[in-house]
Amino acid sequence: MKNGLVIKSTGSWYYVKTEEGEILPCKIKGTYRMKGIRATNPVAVGDQVTFSLSDEGSGLISAIEDRKNYIIRRSANLSKAYQLIASNIDQAILMITLKQPKTHLEFIDRYLVSAEAFRIPTILFFNKCDLYSAEEKSEMQALMALYSGIGYKSISLSLKTHENLDEVRSILSKKVSVLSGNSGVGKSTLLNQLDPNLKVKTSKISDYHRSGKHTTTNAEMYFFESGTRIIDTPGIKGFGTVDITKEELFHFFPEIFSHSKKCKFHNCLHVNEPECAVLEAVMNQQISESRYRSYFALLADMEDKYRK
Ligand code: GDP
Ligand code: ZN
Repeated sequence: MKNGLVIKSTGSWYYVKTEEGEILPCKIKGTYRMKGIRATNPVAVGDQVTFSLSDEGSGLISAIEDRKNYIIRRSANLSKAYQLIASNIDQAILMITLKQPKTHLEFIDRYLVSAEAFRIPTILFFNKCDLYSAEEKSEMQALMALYSGIGYKSISLSLKTHENLDEVRSILSKKVSVLSGNSGVGKSTLLNQLDPNLKVKTSKISDYHRSGKHTTTNAEMYFFESGTRIIDTPGIKGFGTVDITKEELFHFFPEIFSHSKKCKFHNCLHVNEPECAVLEAVMNQQISESRYRSYFALLADMEDKYRK
């Protein structure tokens, strides 16, 4: 029996790095059930596993150590089965750009809801600031103020001019980070800049629309100096959530949650109820309209789901 860390998952194989530094392809024995959720892909990058080695040099995973946390996504749209993506994560990095491509605010907020649900601290990297006009710069500043006000550390950077790259390095240092963001925001560029020997394939602007289709790697952990570990999830835009009900959705918007304590009704959904402290805070601009709009859009999605 050997022990190791899962560093790459392709859907059919898990690559496990042993304590001696060997990397071995492994499969999982039979079916492995996870409490509460149906997972089609039960091993995650970041898992600590025990496996036995066959004569052909591949391994059979027989045990997975308890996870500190994990992220999942739905195997397919509307599917009830989930795929484990990564586990034992210290922080999530969401890379955002205001142009080329523009990251939508609702995408950011949906991502943050998932991160809150899995209790993974999230940091926002606003990349490509070398490209922004004065107007776009002030838009970025406003977003950074909005999100840092809620509690999400936000920094601006340029991977082209290397602005704030030292701060990026120090945020990532000694941590396991999962790196997310729309295709084209600069994720591969960041990995290559942390280690120029890596040569992760970067995409051209024209590749945006067919992102993810040509790749079969679900997740991969990269190792850098000063103990930096980054899990890249190519082709996966964000991650899903399990079992959030519409009644508790607002718990995952920290600022909405904190205002909700002053709502008249304890079961207030903050839509049209009388004496709703959340709606009042939106009116007074204590809660941002865009955040409230994202909340409302997610809630509407859930109502849709329940109607089916
Ligand atoms: P990914 O899909 O998130 O991995 O994005 P890539 O790393 O492939 O980057 C997409 C494109 O954006 C590439 O052509 C990069 O050279 C470019 N890019 C990345 N970061 C920056 C930046 O800070 N400024 C500018 N101007 N271009 C960047
Ligand atoms: Zn309310």
